[in-house]
Amino acid sequence: MIELYNSLTGKIEVFESIERNKVGMYNCGPTVYNYAHIGNLRSFTMADVFRRVFEYNGYLVKQVMNITDVGHLTDDGDEGEDKIEKKARENRISASEITDFYTKAFFKDIESLNIKTDGTLFPKATEHINEQVELIKKLEEKGFTYKTSKGIYFNTSKVPGCDIFRVVGNELKEGARVEINSEKHCPTDFALWKLSDRNEKRQQEWDSPWGVGFPGWHLECSAMAIKYLGEQFDVHTGGIDHKFPHHPNEILQSENATGKSPFSRYWLHNEFLSVGGAKMSKSKENFLTLNDIVERGYDPSVFRFWLLGTHYRSPANFTWQAIRGASNAYKKLVGFTASIHSEEEQAHPDKEYINSFIKSINNDFDTPVVLALLWKLVKDKNVDEEVKFSTIKEFDKVLGIGISSPPDRSDSHIPEDIAELIRKREEARKEKDWKTSDHIREEINELGYVVKDTPEGPEVRKM
Ligand code: AMP
Ligand code: ZN
Repeated sequence: MIELYNSLTGKIEVFESIERNKVGMYNCGPTVYNYAHIGNLRSFTMADVFRRVFEYNGYLVKQVMNITDVGHLTDDGDEGEDKIEKKARENRISASEITDFYTKAFFKDIESLNIKTDGTLFPKATEHINEQVELIKKLEEKGFTYKTSKGIYFNTSKVPGCDIFRVVGNELKEGARVEINSEKHCPTDFALWKLSDRNEKRQQEWDSPWGVGFPGWHLECSAMAIKYLGEQFDVHTGGIDHKFPHHPNEILQSENATGKSPFSRYWLHNEFLSVGGAKMSKSKENFLTLNDIVERGYDPSVFRFWLLGTHYRSPANFTWQAIRGASNAYKKLVGFTASIHSEEEQAHPDKEYINSFIKSINNDFDTPVVLALLWKLVKDKNVDEEVKFSTIKEFDKVLGIGISSPPDRSDSHIPEDIAELIRKREEARKEKDWKTSDHIREEINELGYVVKDTPEGPEVRKM
């Protein structure tokens, strides 16, 4: 039984899928006008953890993540410039060159973070213009739209009760973060189709029944979710910033076009990742990408490991000190699992640990508790090493941090300082000084090497 916090209702609920043993999940994906920052990557990593937890529970997950390659405006609402057009203009290259480049970079990042992509669909907004136009037509037929000189708008006052804030509860006041557009009937109305400015030639624009223009940002997620997951599906995810206005707008336009409610049964929102206590901003130095972390010598798995140390609904604060600490802890873990790894047949995982593990992942995806359990297991003297290894392997199916991968023996060169530590450790072991030998092993791990004790003597390899 999976219990999760549903942002739609503000309650912890028992997860029940529409179709037995199947989950349809939509994840708000990247806007490809720049590299994904590490906050965006938190959102995508958590979506991957959700998928892995559903899969661990025996569900077949159909996952869809959009690639936003048009229409996301600089104010995240209906005003401002299109982020992609702006970047293309500033760099004097085409919009498609921008989006191709950053889409590739996004795929590279998620691969480095061990985010599962098998079977996942990554539809692009620009390749679903027809679907978006059709959705507007439906809303138009049902009387939910009106036209201004700027485009076609969704008329929120046409919705009985106009409970646009259902997702946000009472946290936000009407109109907050919504730009005032004098032609809008109500501040919460939002653009479905934006008409191109007659004085400016856009690179990305399409003909439509209402004139040449481009889709409003919120529309793509509705059109593509409906196309690939159906008019109703199970889970929708995104960062906390999407709790308003992006997701309520998605709900309004989808449910009123299809006549079916709820659009998604469960809404999962990850909290923000900040850097050095501040919100990441492109103009500040705290705009960090995965590459920045890798360039400082940290493996992407260390970043993933660090991310999972915070619950997805708690804010996370990145600091170099924190990632250094995570790196040391990660090396210890990898060193330990490699030292107990056996090529022989796997032992059965420890039942009690597996039960606690399942309880934690099914308790609103509680990864910090799973990590604490992992450390407890590592230190547990009452569990056989083979059993430990196969239990850790199970944990890693959800964590995805690569701590149970078989050792890579491709690099056989061992530097002299490591060899010296190995010798010292052997001496300590001969003296049965386990404290010193464990300490030296940790030192070896911190230097990026793994030592495994075999009947033929110590086996060393690079991590
Ligand atoms: P974007 O590329 O801006 O469309 O955002 C992609 C995803 O990252 C969305 O689900 C956002 O809600 C999420 N997101 C944006 N900033 C952060 C942040 N600082 N921390 C966590 N998630 C974020
Ligand atoms: Zn979205």
